[in-house]
Amino acid sequence: MIACLDLEGVLVPEIWINVAERTGIEALRRTTRDEPDYDKLMRYRLGILDEKGITLGQIQSVIEGMGPMPGAAGFLGWLRDRAQVVILSDTFYQFAAPLMRQLGHPCLFCHTLEVDGQDRIVGYRLRIDDGKRRAVRALRDLNFHVVAAGDSYNDTSMLGEANGGILFRPPANVIAEFPQYPVTTTYDELRTAFVQASQGEIRGD
Ligand SMILES: [Mg+2]
Repeated sequence: MIACLDLEGVLVPEIWINVAERTGIEALRRTTRDEPDYDKLMRYRLGILDEKGITLGQIQSVIEGMGPMPGAAGFLGWLRDRAQVVILSDTFYQFAAPLMRQLGHPCLFCHTLEVDGQDRIVGYRLRIDDGKRRAVRALRDLNFHVVAAGDSYNDTSMLGEANGGILFRPPANVIAEFPQYPVTTTYDELRTAFVQASQGEIRGD
């Protein structure tokens, strides 16, 4: 079995929202719920960082202070004892780095920020479109049994592509729209769901 985990909302808090809170820059609270065009949202965020003169290093120290969610490191250790784990995320390597250190450097597939010589974030590069779903598809093509867990809309296509899909602390609208996936709210429940899914008792497709 290979376990695929979303990062934000499953192992670590939402990064942009916490950066907004910890820097006091309210404008950074904007999410894909407010601006569905991701490229527009990112250019807006990068514009604010530029305007305020905030460097990547400053954001990284804010992220370092966030830390993983309580219980996340223990859960991840438990899972890595039982399966290979790949974290599939829409964040950026440079943002995730301080958190990956605190989680023992699990395997992570995500995107990349473009940074200039002054440590200013000047752009971003998506590694591939629809990366979460395509990673699960590729692992299944390699004949792995894949169990995936995530919290949000951007995870539902990977849950559907997996042999087993699990929701962790999802918002009510995701629960309502995707009733086929079991909902877990604690790491103990998530452990139980992974055990069941590894035995084929929870299905994705
Ligand atoms: Mg998430």
